[in-house]
Amino acid sequence: MEGHISVDKTKQMYLEQRLKLQFSRGENSFEVSCQICGKKLRGTLTISKFGNAWNIHIDNGTFHHQDGNHKNNSVENLILLCHICHKRLHDWGIIQRWLKKTGKTISDLPDCSRLKPYFTGY
Ligand SMILES: [Zn+2]
Ligand SMILES: [Zn+2]
Repeated sequence: MEGHISVDKTKQMYLEQRLKLQFSRGENSFEVSCQICGKKLRGTLTISKFGNAWNIHIDNGTFHHQDGNHKNNSVENLILLCHICHKRLHDWGIIQRWLKKTGKTISDLPDCSRLKPYFTGY
């Protein structure tokens, strides 16, 4: 699941600080902001049945792995994003690779600035 990771308990505090998870007192649900657009995301934090791992699930967002390796859940590698920003980030990566491959530059791209952003659905 994209919006779901398991983390070591020792990393939990750091992850909470880095991702700025805001817990309601006495609850395991939290609010957090998309790190690009600031949209409010909701999630839950639970202790796994194995005891020492914590599962973080984001209802309406996803964890982006900066190095592209989805098994690398080190806190430094994770960015929390809404689905729209996540898609845009990956689309931009695809465009950059295409530019590099074809030897083109950003000015060769069509001007899409007047197009409405399209909703990806989730
Ligand atoms: Zn966003
Ligand atoms: Zn990603």
